[in-house]
Amino acid sequence: MRLLLIEDDVSLCKSLTVDLERAGFAVDMANDGEQGEYLGMTECYDIVILDLGLPKLPGLDVLKQWRRANNNVPVIVLTARDAWHEKVDGFKAGADDYLGKPFHIQELLARIQALIKRLSGQNRQKLSTCGVELNEDQQTLMLDNLHSVELTDVEFRLLRYFMLHQGKVISKTELTEHIYSCDHDPDSNVIEVYINRLRRKLSKDMITTRRGQGYVFGKPS
Ligand code: CA
Repeated sequence: MRLLLIEDDVSLCKSLTVDLERAGFAVDMANDGEQGEYLGMTECYDIVILDLGLPKLPGLDVLKQWRRANNNVPVIVLTARDAWHEKVDGFKAGADDYLGKPFHIQELLARIQALIKRLSGQNRQKLSTCGVELNEDQQTLMLDNLHSVELTDVEFRLLRYFMLHQGKVISKTELTEHIYSCDHDPDSNVIEVYINRLRRKLSKDMITTRRGQGYVFGKPS
């Protein structure tokens, strides 16, 4: 999952990035509204964390501009604690959720996970399908309720993306865009290597290759 964090408090931004990366997100940062607005329109993000008080362009205007341009990326706004009008304004401008500052990182992570699941139609506590269950807190995989399997950082990101988009054809480019941040420029052949490793940990037929198109996750019917 690729995440855009727009926050002008640089030290908060850096510490959040560390926690978010640890939780398996590829994170891009923007420290002002203009840069954030631009990144959100030009890159593919699965979720955006948007502070409202920003230099150059207020967070609310960033959000309004995206929604006007039919950019429906999921957005969690960061508001001042107890500023109920900021929450109302945020929702009116098209926010999906909000969090009052200061907050605990665990609450932000829980809200991100809940929002991603809600929007992908997986309204359940755990990501699970076809005997595969993903534990997002421990970044491990449970197979047929029997064995727990460790995942590397990239394997976890890949598998979560697949599980949230089960049955859809996903191209290598799409996978690359959603599991790496702007700072990385991975060779798309690297993705194949990771997919083959995942296949060994799952079972071979869980990820099907569609020649020239990409990959499909899920047991073939
Ligand atoms: Ca701010």
